[in-house]
Parts: sequence; structure tokens; C-alpha cells
Amino acid sequence: MSAKHVSLNDNRSYDNYYLAFLAIGDFNTMSPNPEMWNACLRTTRTFMNFFDFDADHVIAHGEAPGAETSCPGRLWDLDKFRKDL
Ligand SMILES: [Zn+2]
Repeated sequence: MSAKHVSLNDNRSYDNYYLAFLAIGDFNTMSPNPEMWNACLRTTRTFMNFFDFDADHVIAHGEAPGAETSCPGRLWDLDKFRKDL
């Protein structure tokens, strides 16, 4: 398995500036199950608390500038995810 990397417009890699969490699945064709959803919320909250940032700073891979992906997929409700955080 390989990881997808995203670069900032000035060629700095997001890898050096952002935390990234990965949920395995095709969320264009299926919704995340409740266990996965809740585990992702718990994990994200833990890091939000540790590094002191809020839900407004949580973005999806597909929302990163220059990203050419729908990741995590249209059935992963990002607005709900950020609201649930
Ligand atoms: Zn992705």
C-alpha cells in the first residue's frame, strides 16, 4: 500500500506541517460505519486537544489546495464530521 502525499503551492509538503489520519474505504460508494466514524472523531479530538486546534482547522484530503481527489468521498459528510468534533 502506498500513501498519497499532498504538496502546498510553494512545493512544501503537507507532510511537514499537518497531521494526517487515514480511514480505509471507498466513501464514494459506502458511508463510513458508526464504529469507524466514532473512532475517527475520537482520534481527531485527541490530537485537537493535544495540539490545541479547533474543528475549523480540520480539512479533508480533497479540500487541500491543489488536491485532485474526492477523498474521503462524497458519502463522508465533512460538515457533519467537523460539527460532531
Ligand atoms: Zn486521501
